[in-house]
Amino acid sequence: MEVIFLGTGTSQGTPILGCNCEVCKSNDLHDKRLRSSVLIHNDGTDILIDCGPDFRYQMIREGANNVDAILFTHFMPNNA
Ligand SMILES: [Zn+2]
Repeated sequence: MEVIFLGTGTSQGTPILGCNCEVCKSNDLHDKRLRSSVLIHNDGTDILIDCGPDFRYQMIREGANNVDAILFTHFMPNNA
C-alpha cells in the first residue's frame, strides 16, 4: 500500500490570496501547501480521499493518472 499526500493545507490552501499574515508571507516551503487530499494505491486500485480545485496539479505532480473511487469526507455547498 502506498499513501500519497497530495495536499495538506487548509480548504483555501496556503498561502491564502491577499493574506498578509506571517505564514502566508513565509518563504519556507512548509508554508506552501495545497488543499487537503490523499491518494491511496493498493493492489492496483487507487482511492482518492477528498478532491478540490488543486486536483489536476496534484495528480500531474505525482505522476498519477488513475482514480477508481473517491471518498468525500465532508459536504461542499454549491456556493463555496
Ligand atoms: Zn495568512
